[in-house]
Amino acid sequence: MRRSLVMGNWKMNGSLAANQVLLEALLAKWQGVHKAEVAVAPVSLHLAQVGQLLSGSNIQLAAQDASAHASGAFTGEVAAAMLSELDCRYVIVGHSERRQYHAESSELVAKKAKAVLAEGMVPVVCVGETLSERDAGQTLAVISEQLSPVIALFGASLAQIVVAYEPVWAIGTGKTATPEQAQAVHAFIRDQLGAAGEQVRILYGGSVKPANAEALFAKTDIDGALVGGAALKADDFYAICRAA
Ligand code: PEP
Repeated sequence: MRRSLVMGNWKMNGSLAANQVLLEALLAKWQGVHKAEVAVAPVSLHLAQVGQLLSGSNIQLAAQDASAHASGAFTGEVAAAMLSELDCRYVIVGHSERRQYHAESSELVAKKAKAVLAEGMVPVVCVGETLSERDAGQTLAVISEQLSPVIALFGASLAQIVVAYEPVWAIGTGKTATPEQAQAVHAFIRDQLGAAGEQVRILYGGSVKPANAEALFAKTDIDGALVGGAALKADDFYAICRAA
């Protein structure tokens, strides 16, 4: 039985003051979220503060990225071991914004995921097609290309990852994949993962809101959500967590 997971990706938003306001508002209404596991991912500079604000709650800490390297001359990067020291439980890797703006290849994303796992955390591997790829009928081929280095590198430890299916055309656009469109890709991803597939949680991401969360979560292969914009509003994020 897979426990559902809702993760808030705060992206490059927040400040020390704003994080405190957001988390105080969220924790003030937190009763009732028992079923789903919940995590939030602030910028790495804010992880220590957010970790402190979350201590004593059942909301977990997550990071938005990690280096594929253990340490050394990699200016601006953050090593997985440093995230682990701050008690991160999850690390997002391969978000479409990293693939698009930082030219991250699927091979690099797989190495980052492995570095995260090696430090005892759970990599959340993002995959997803652009609108032109979907229109050209390439969705499944793109997903397969993005997943294959991870499958090759992880071998027997594949069951320990989380996958987030995030169609690029649905991220921050207000357009959501229909539950049926998402379910079809989630089922494909589970199939690609082979024997590990039944254990791996597959999250949907792309304009998830309180109004569409329940219908998405009702689908067999949708095990939760990676939430961007709505994770910055305490009421909305709470409602999505309740729905999961
Ligand atoms: C995301 O960036 O992971 C995301 C899903 O964003 P949004 O919910 O704003 O579409």
